[in-house]
Amino acid sequence: STVLAGHGLTKKYGSTTALDGVDVEVGERDSLAVMGPSGSGKSTLLHTLAGIVRPDGGQVLLRGDRIDSLGENRLSALRRKRFGFVFQSGQLLPELPAEENVALPLMLEGVPRGQAVSRARRWFAPLGLDGLEKRRPGQLSGGQAQRVAIARALVVEPDVVFADEPTGALDQHTSEEVVRLLTSVTREQGAALVMVTHDADVAAHCGRILQVRDGRISGHSQYTAV
Ligand code: ADP
Ligand code: ADP
Repeated sequence: STVLAGHGLTKKYGSTTALDGVDVEVGERDSLAVMGPSGSGKSTLLHTLAGIVRPDGGQVLLRGDRIDSLGENRLSALRRKRFGFVFQSGQLLPELPAEENVALPLMLEGVPRGQAVSRARRWFAPLGLDGLEKRRPGQLSGGQAQRVAIARALVVEPDVVFADEPTGALDQHTSEEVVRLLTSVTREQGAALVMVTHDADVAAHCGRILQVRDGRISGHSQYTAV
């Protein structure tokens, strides 16, 4: 069943058309890679689907309910509860141990600290982070830090994980390891994944690849190996 859909999405910035009638659907446990040249509208598409950017036209539906027309407070509450985000780098708070970084989204939802940290710890083993719970981000490798960021995105058990160049700061070997864990753990959790990447080897770990050019879908491929 469809978790997230964008229908006829358009977005302009002045005279620049960033999105020009994009239709996209993502199902449960589905993973979608968004690729395309710089400036083609990938980030705008991800941000529009995630309720960060408002489209000028079209609709965004989460499990059939429109979210693009929600008020700012309801939309930001929805983002915190139902979406997880992974960025290129620099998203962990340097003064907090890894387990508390992961627990933060739960604490923002009002889960008491002890309970939030114990729920956060459950994500360490599946992401190959056993024993690193008390490390601060500065004491982690780039790949370990991204795996902590993935744990933080998943800890609220979101419907959709949005990843914007999640391997952009990593070498090829580490990128493969991180994207493999990102796709498999997200699927096991039952969430959908939408990922923007420049890296075709990273995109190949997703079930489907969407090619974007000049704000339009220029290609669509399905991978059956995943
Ligand atoms: P990509 O992620 O593929 O590099 P973007 O979605 O960032 O592309 O940008 C698509 C187009 O929209 C580009 O021409 C970009 O300069 C423009 N754009 C994106 N965001 C803004 C903004 N906040 N203000 C003005 N122009 C923007
Ligand atoms: P990407 O990493 O996808 O290439 P960009 O460097 O194009 O991203 O854009 C980074 C951020 O700046 C995005 O949030 C985008 O919305 C914003 N942005 C892009 N182009 C412009 C622009 N011409 N004016 C203002 N903001 C922009």
